[in-house]
Amino acid sequence: MKIESVELKRVSIPLKKPFKTALRRVDTAENIIVVMTADDGTRGYGEAPPTAAITGDTDKTIISAIKNSIAPAIIGLDIEDLDDVMYRLQHSVEGNTSPKAACDMAVYDLWSRHYGQPLYKLLGGYQKDLETDLTISINEPAEMREDALAAIGQGFHALKLKVGIDADLDIKRVKAIREAVGPDIRLRLDANQGWTADEAVRTIRRFEDMGLDIEFVEQPVKARDFAGMKRVHDNVHTKIMADESMFSPKDAIELLHMEAVDLVNIKLMKCGGIHNALKIAGIAETYGVECMLGCMIESKVSLTAAAHLAAAKRNITRVDLDAAILLAEDPVQGGFEKDIPHFSVTDAPGLGITGIEGLMEL
Ligand SMILES: [Mg+2]
Repeated sequence: MKIESVELKRVSIPLKKPFKTALRRVDTAENIIVVMTADDGTRGYGEAPPTAAITGDTDKTIISAIKNSIAPAIIGLDIEDLDDVMYRLQHSVEGNTSPKAACDMAVYDLWSRHYGQPLYKLLGGYQKDLETDLTISINEPAEMREDALAAIGQGFHALKLKVGIDADLDIKRVKAIREAVGPDIRLRLDANQGWTADEAVRTIRRFEDMGLDIEFVEQPVKARDFAGMKRVHDNVHTKIMADESMFSPKDAIELLHMEAVDLVNIKLMKCGGIHNALKIAGIAETYGVECMLGCMIESKVSLTAAAHLAAAKRNITRVDLDAAILLAEDPVQGGFEKDIPHFSVTDAPGLGITGIEGLMEL
């Protein structure tokens, strides 16, 4: 089976409520969809959301990287030569991790369809069922408290609270939510680089002193401040997770070798897709560190790819794949099945996606 064409489309899906972090606000997901067709007519799907604030990838750069660099590097290659396809895909252009991820997952979709198996089985086949947390956007404490209670009402057992804009207000936010949801709900915090190392140590120690029982804190300081990450890690009891600090497998080696973090958050859009995500999961396993699989504001196309990866690996112990729940519509047929807060991958070949409604021409 040879890769014959790579077409690009767009999906536009409104969010139920604006998504707000210390870095950005999103009202509508305007994502690029990759439809990769093989010479026997089989189709593989992929997706890239432009998340310039984190990956640097914009709508324009995603389209240009795929059209001018990635697609020409892999068209005509045999899908059975997966490692060669991945080498050429990853080396077709520097950076551009989101467009690489979109093409990488479409290749994996074709590859697993070619062998007639669901992708998670070919990647390791650990389990079929996953449980996601839900992200609570950063807002005034009272509004976040209401959002948290609504999430518990929907059945979520773990909440990821966005913090990092104002440390004093962050204490009020987390305290209001812990008091409202009780002791049994897992609370994870994501500061999205919003604190300095000193501020992070001070604030996290206050959470500890107040007994707010935080499962972990994600990305307290700036992405490239590995020394700051380590300083926070060394001076608090709460587990620290790398998100924006860790794009590549090499970042994972560096952070884990210097013992700067306790956990890592793998996102396909940061590392360039499943090929590199598997390396990161392997590196983390080598260091005895567990992984979370996270996402950007993605539709069920790339979330299904992420779910297959998470389901495949024993060392991916947490998933934060809530974007599908934040979106007001689901135009994707097939893919994972959800029963909030649970997701399961199916045994349909590949990603199991059979079509996408409302795709727009570029
Ligand atoms: Mg994060």
